[in-house]
Amino acid sequence: MLEPGIDDLWFAPLGGTGEIGMNLNLYGHNGQWLMVDCGVSFDEPLVAPYKKNSTQSSKTTHRVVAPDPAFIAGQKDALAGIVITHAHEDHVGAIPYLWQRFRKPIYTTSFTAEVLRRKLSKSKLANKIPIVEVSAGDSVNIGVFTVKWLEITHSLPEPFALKIETPAGAVLHTADWKIDAAPITGKPFEPKLYKQLGNENILALVGDSTNANKPGFSVSERNCYDGLLSTILPLKGRVVVGCFASNIARLITLAKIARKTGRYMGLYGRSLMNMYGIARQQGIWPDDLPVADAHHLGYLPPKEVLVVATGSQGEKNAALARFAHDTHPHLQLEKGDTVIFSSIVIPGNEETVARLDKAFKGKGISTVHSESSPLPIHASGHPCAEELKLMYSWVKPQIAIPVHGEQTHLLAHAEIAKSVGVMKTYVGENGDLYRLAPQPSIRRNVIPVGRLPVQQE
Ligand SMILES: [Zn+2]
Ligand SMILES: [Zn+2]
Repeated sequence: MLEPGIDDLWFAPLGGTGEIGMNLNLYGHNGQWLMVDCGVSFDEPLVAPYKKNSTQSSKTTHRVVAPDPAFIAGQKDALAGIVITHAHEDHVGAIPYLWQRFRKPIYTTSFTAEVLRRKLSKSKLANKIPIVEVSAGDSVNIGVFTVKWLEITHSLPEPFALKIETPAGAVLHTADWKIDAAPITGKPFEPKLYKQLGNENILALVGDSTNANKPGFSVSERNCYDGLLSTILPLKGRVVVGCFASNIARLITLAKIARKTGRYMGLYGRSLMNMYGIARQQGIWPDDLPVADAHHLGYLPPKEVLVVATGSQGEKNAALARFAHDTHPHLQLEKGDTVIFSSIVIPGNEETVARLDKAFKGKGISTVHSESSPLPIHASGHPCAEELKLMYSWVKPQIAIPVHGEQTHLLAHAEIAKSVGVMKTYVGENGDLYRLAPQPSIRRNVIPVGRLPVQQE
């Protein structure tokens, strides 16, 4: 059994390193482990393509998969607690399926806690999981670890980076982030917090690699507002916008645009309604931005309608697919209407999105995609190369550990870290043991990892 000693600080990803999705990270020190995030992936093969010598079939795919937590479940007494950085499915989605194997308290902030509670409300675990709510700036002792919640910007409310301190060293775990000076929800990105870390002798930065191979800076949500407004303003028919349900900033942006263009906004899709409900309950949704009853939009003149719908990845039974095939009970689209994809096509979904696009065009409905639109109508929540450079120049860690990406993203991230003077970079994958202290090194393939199919509730 691998057991971290009193001088050790270890990092061990069970999911999310060498892939995008199902993040599950462990930090080890002095006989204890801290879990950071516990997420799922969708429509994934059970075995990642890079695991060549696995015995499992790589052909079967499952709707939802979670990281195999056997390594930590088998020593759950050594697990001090579980920290969730933000409410995206790839960070919190596996809790309903895996928590019973750890039974340890979960530490997170109010919005994420509410998303999790609603997720659990229909399961056996409703009201059973101890959730400790923390606030921005709090430092919490969890076993031998001291965890500080640092505000950051991403693509949903309440994203947090973590400073994880032990007597053997301190780590900045960025989780998902970008630099957004106008994120619509929450405060603007605050460089001061990260410049401060530059004086605190941070041993390692463990960070988001999703967009490391994209040059420049990410687009701000505020620019997205301008781009969407300019796109929608001249349109005469109904406007339907497909976007990710958790992107509450985008929903607020669209509600503002609806008001400005004299349209009524309605939400179509259960996950959108759920997120809107949480945003209202948490006081994130502005009181002066009404949302119309989706049952009524079908009776309005087309130029007064702005629909926000789920299914921008071409998902079969989602609202967009129903509009495309005229099977939605409350609203029918017609020639002259426009469908805007305020999202990206997640790699692997190209075909289903293309089919959806074709179905709309066949009915005389125009489509606008973020990839080909001249205006910014989608903003990624992850840092591009220049943002990564800034972060490293502020925090000045001794070691860079790229995570949250496939090998190509991790390698690009490592190159950026080297280019701004970080002495050591470790590019590894799930199952590797990164030993940060006392002597930095990486041991490949020493922790059993894998994927578990889990049931969708
Ligand atoms: Zn995220
Ligand atoms: Zn993520």
